[in-house]
Amino acid sequence: MPGRNFLFVPGPTNVPDRILRAMHRAMEDHRSSAFPELTTGLLGGLKKIFKTTTGQPFIFPATGTGGWEAALVNTRSPGDRVIASRHGQFSHLWIELAQRHGLRVDILDVEWGEGAPVDRIEDALSRDKQHEIKGVLVVHNETATGVTSDVAAVRRAMDAAKHPALLYVDGVSSVGSIDFRLDEWRVDLAITGSQKGLMLPAGLGIVCASPTALAAREHAKCPRAFFDFGDMIKANATGYFPYTPALPMLYGLRESLDIISEQGLDTIFARHHRLAEGVRAAVRGWGLKLCAREPKWYSNTVSAVMVPEGASGADVIDVAFRRYNLALGAGLGRLAGKLFRIGHLGDLNELMLLGAIAGAEMAMRDVGIKIAAGSGVAAAAEHYRGTAAPLPARAAMPSPGAPQAPGAGGAATPRTAVRT
Ligand code: PLP
Repeated sequence: MPGRNFLFVPGPTNVPDRILRAMHRAMEDHRSSAFPELTTGLLGGLKKIFKTTTGQPFIFPATGTGGWEAALVNTRSPGDRVIASRHGQFSHLWIELAQRHGLRVDILDVEWGEGAPVDRIEDALSRDKQHEIKGVLVVHNETATGVTSDVAAVRRAMDAAKHPALLYVDGVSSVGSIDFRLDEWRVDLAITGSQKGLMLPAGLGIVCASPTALAAREHAKCPRAFFDFGDMIKANATGYFPYTPALPMLYGLRESLDIISEQGLDTIFARHHRLAEGVRAAVRGWGLKLCAREPKWYSNTVSAVMVPEGASGADVIDVAFRRYNLALGAGLGRLAGKLFRIGHLGDLNELMLLGAIAGAEMAMRDVGIKIAAGSGVAAAAEHYRGTAAPLPARAAMPSPGAPQAPGAGGAATPRTAVRT
């Protein structure tokens, strides 16, 4: 199919050309004296992304799932009790992983479309006078439902219950796109992957651990080898890794951290909010509903759009892909067929999203969903126009015939604006 594939699944996300170029390089000796500079820069840069000065980042050649595992096995023992909110497919999978490692998980089930139940967490912790519960597991942004939970409120609930459990937060589809504050929220273990807000291919599982989490290693008896924090701490201290690092991913990560630092985290969060608001305007324009039940749960990185009763979200996704070269996210687990998801995170702008909204709209009409042609596109476009930043100043052009600064332009550079 000519033209680019429109990649609008909520991860992997579009990899900027700058990052692709940075990854495209010859292999090198990962034990050379030059290598530590790369490692040290990455670990320092990641601290800024997690908003921590005291936390310690770990970079594993893995994915978000590996990050889940690393966080648990380094700090827990088989038989430990933890509580976890289950409000979507990813919280469900994390709970299963914890159970496979022998943890006893008190599951707080909530409707898929809502976030972590802060009051119930506080209640459970307050009743646990013996402090048997060792950890609280929360998926910050549930990618399956497009729901963002309030991690600061979970921390407040833990404080209110005066409970010493560790706070484990999955930030796979939030870190780098939605505000995340490891130090301020006193998150003990934060997990992310490379293929979402960091704009890289999948391949890195990144964990950031608080000093309390690092201290918990002493008593943690879960078997661990590849994911052992201890081996990583030792090797990272000298700027190396305990095994052969995924070099292109590390160079890509360096470029990603540079891009994020140039743009500024706050600017990036604001952009994600604005782009997400446009998608939500489109969904209202279509007369459809999000899976997220209330605005307080709305995610700025992914919108899960419920299709009307009798229609199939899988058909929308299939037509969008085969006819319009647009990749939308599927309904996962118990939501299979009931929705499609539009990922709006990473390296994106308004017009790219309008393309995805147009494709989703056409595919929905193709499969017989009754929405007015142009309704979503118009609503989103008007939102983007109405919230656009002031026009950036036009680059100054030298007046015709004016002498040019030495070295500016080449012989072939036109001296006056060419209008076509
Ligand atoms: N957690 C969340 C919130 C996710 O969205 C995903 C993947 O999409 C994962 C965990 C699992 O990550 P991975 O597929 O990188 O193992």
